[in-house]
Amino acid sequence: MTILDGKSLSIKIQNDIKKEADALREINITPGLAVILIGDDPASHSYVKMKEKACYETGIYSILHKMPSSISEEKILETITMMNENKNIDGILVQLPLPSHIDTTKIIEAISAKKDVDGFHPYNVGRLVAGLSGFVPCTPLGVMRLLEEYKIDVKGMNVCVVGASNIVGKPMMNLLLNAGATVDICHIFTKNLKEHTKRADMIIVGVGKANLITENMVKESAIVVDIGINVLANGKLVGDVDFENVSKKCSFITPVPGGAGPMTIAMLLSNTIKSAKNR
Ligand code: NAD
Repeated sequence: MTILDGKSLSIKIQNDIKKEADALREINITPGLAVILIGDDPASHSYVKMKEKACYETGIYSILHKMPSSISEEKILETITMMNENKNIDGILVQLPLPSHIDTTKIIEAISAKKDVDGFHPYNVGRLVAGLSGFVPCTPLGVMRLLEEYKIDVKGMNVCVVGASNIVGKPMMNLLLNAGATVDICHIFTKNLKEHTKRADMIIVGVGKANLITENMVKESAIVVDIGINVLANGKLVGDVDFENVSKKCSFITPVPGGAGPMTIAMLLSNTIKSAKNR
């Protein structure tokens, strides 16, 4: 069994990004990322902190707009317009989830598709579905990059994606399909999940339920990618896979932490550099 080490690869990618940022600065372009953070969700604050730190370390200028959860939709839209027009900003990220009185779709649609480094804007979603270039959501993009690093070609593979959200499962499905995999996508209403996972050459899970994927649901020598993040009552961070038992059975597996998480941040930086190059 081989560990798909997202942490090491993300360090390597960040070193390359730093060089690219340095080269851009030589032609008077400092890549810039604007982050909008609303409310006090501790997980969102911690993700934003990690993203800011990664920007700092790679020489990407980042600006944080922190807003209280009581903020009006109008104020957020005003800030987005300002960032859309700011020539020093290449990427705009609104940390999700948003408070319930805010229309998430409206906010995402307000971000210029050219600065949509999260790849959530319907314009970029459409391009991904059509197999065209554009911004791709960072978590599934990071998974593809990680597989590539380990020379895992998904072409012709039966891949079961568990979780079908707009930010994880659906773009993951599209990337796999575009790369030639046969994709089975499961969600909360899927009957008999095990029937789907058991026949897959690769399982990619992003649900948010500890131990959802157990040993008896995984085929011998399957590849397992765990995107889930769960904090147990004892404070331990785990994914959606019963790592201890599943890892004995599979050929490759991502750890949590240290798998998909660091790759997500690396892809955010990479998308920001890509946008800066388009300036
Ligand atoms: P979400 O709540 O938007 O979507 C969850 C998906 O899982 C839905 O499609 C739902 O139908 C499905 N689901 C729920 N229960 C299920 C079950 N019992 N069986 C099968 N499917 C089920 O969540 P999300 O934003 O897509 O995030 C999913 C997980 O991935 C979370 O744990 C989140 O923290 C994690 N995540 C990690 C990263 C990272 O960088 N590693 C990034 C984004 C999300």
